[in-house]
Amino acid sequence: MNEILKLDNVEKYYGNKANLTKAVDKISFSVEKGEFVGIMGASGSGKTTLLNCISTIDRVTAGHIYVGDKDITTIRGNELNKFRREELGFIFQVPNLYPWLTIRENIMLPLKIHKLKGEQYEKKADDLLAYVGLQKYADSYPNEISGGMSQRIGVIRAMIHNPQILMMDEPFGALDEDTRETLNVELVKIWRDTGMTIIFITHNIEEAVLLSQRVYVMSSHPGQVKTELTIDFGEKERDLDLLSDPKFAQYCTQIEQLIGHLALDEIK
Ligand code: ADP
Repeated sequence: MNEILKLDNVEKYYGNKANLTKAVDKISFSVEKGEFVGIMGASGSGKTTLLNCISTIDRVTAGHIYVGDKDITTIRGNELNKFRREELGFIFQVPNLYPWLTIRENIMLPLKIHKLKGEQYEKKADDLLAYVGLQKYADSYPNEISGGMSQRIGVIRAMIHNPQILMMDEPFGALDEDTRETLNVELVKIWRDTGMTIIFITHNIEEAVLLSQRVYVMSSHPGQVKTELTIDFGEKERDLDLLSDPKFAQYCTQIEQLIGHLALDEIK
């Protein structure tokens, strides 16, 4: 057991007394180093809030989040910056590349934010570009590449500073199905090659089953973890051949029913 992340009774409220939203309610779970964990749930179930709390973009209202043995809900200042610099990479639904910067400059932008300098990072940017087959676009601008390529850049940009944990908030949600599948397979390769821990929010059940070793299914109002599901395909590779595996369909149906039941419970 090598736990990298632990949430202990995490709560997050927004608003004030007169208009309080309990976005996340008493969430506890832990993630092992190198695990791929999917988070699913209806819109408004607190998935993004949860990811933002782990990333320290948002601060928790109550409870604790530990990364390694550090309680990141209490750290401030330099210690907080060090944590963000060393531990986290964040990938958003839209890659938000700066149009006036080249692709290489976009990839290297987090280094400016984290005040990291050195030739090794320039080499890393070129290595990452080659790794996803986009080295010839290093000096191009974002308007010269496709949506799928832009999101690949979003993924490698989050890895430039060698983070321990990659946080992904519906990273492929805006892409067409074929591109999404291609990027899913590439992400599995990145995960295998780097041994990074990945926390991945998605609305897409097939994507969650293809990628995740465990899936947490959340319910809404307030956002709580209702079920934890282990996705186990034994020694089989996580590639598109899995889509025709009977077990794959079983997992998808199981999650679909879970989310459906949770939605019904809310209507009652
Ligand atoms: P999900 O990512 O599952 O769609 P969110 O984490 O975005 O859910 O939202 C959970 C709940 O918290 C929702 O009811 C949402 O309206 C509310 N919420 C999220 N962010 C804010 C905010 N900044 N201010 C007020 N309410 C918010």
